[in-house]
Amino acid sequence: FIDIRHAKKSFGPLEVLKDISLQVERGQIVAIIGPSGSGKSTLLRAINELDPLTGGEIWLEGTQINKDLPHRQYEKHLNQVRQDIGMVFQHFNLFPHLRVRENITLAPKLLKKISDEAANALAEEQLKKVGMLERIDFFPSQLSGGQKQRVAIARALAMQPKVMLFDEATSALDPELVEEVNQVMKNLAKEDMTMIIVTHEMDFAESVCDRVLFMDQGVVVEEGPPSVIFHNPTHERTQNFLRKHL
Ligand code: ATP
Ligand code: MG
Repeated sequence: FIDIRHAKKSFGPLEVLKDISLQVERGQIVAIIGPSGSGKSTLLRAINELDPLTGGEIWLEGTQINKDLPHRQYEKHLNQVRQDIGMVFQHFNLFPHLRVRENITLAPKLLKKISDEAANALAEEQLKKVGMLERIDFFPSQLSGGQKQRVAIARALAMQPKVMLFDEATSALDPELVEEVNQVMKNLAKEDMTMIIVTHEMDFAESVCDRVLFMDQGVVVEEGPPSVIFHNPTHERTQNFLRKHL
């Protein structure tokens, strides 16, 4: 479903991703863990072409995500990529000057060319899913961190993506707000959403993920089911990392 082949990414002389390959099946949930600077965010940003690879290929359902196209075609291609791949960031990235409703309807109206009525219905449906319907006419500044993040998730879902990417979606939240966002992600898991989740929360990763990847210094050091990676990892680097984080 998702097929990452020999992904490489350099910033000038700095090699941040060094030959990463990863396949994700439809409906699978993969957690990526690893120390700061190991390249987790860079990999996620490459998957949705926010920050393209310098080598290798990324495929989603038989379509190559990272491809060289003439400008106009590339813009069109990017629009499709943005619809197919939803992303949620650590710092929410809601549009501060727009109400919750418009935060959600903006992209579907622009990219899917749907009517105001249809976009409103979509916003209401997605907000209901994340328990935020009653805040539809609030501005982001009037919401708690957990509420903002749930709106950000609803916004991504409104594009009806094939895949959702989460980059430390809860690490900027106060501890008491983490659970409400985790719960939304767990609900998505039950609906068989395909997800790649970068997280520092090992308990959460263990409870929702089918597979865990441990990355360090731009390579996948080890991967496997949570029961193995968290409780019986093979590599010393994984063991050292987990000793600090479990
Ligand atoms: P964290 O857990 O702290 O979020 P990470 O695993 O997500 O870390 P990345 O953000 O992917 O790490 O960064 C990997 C490396 O790439 C770091 O050394 C970082 O400094 C470097 N890097 C990331 N983005 C850029 C950029 N735009 N220009 C130059 N270097 C960058
Ligand atoms: Mg990161």
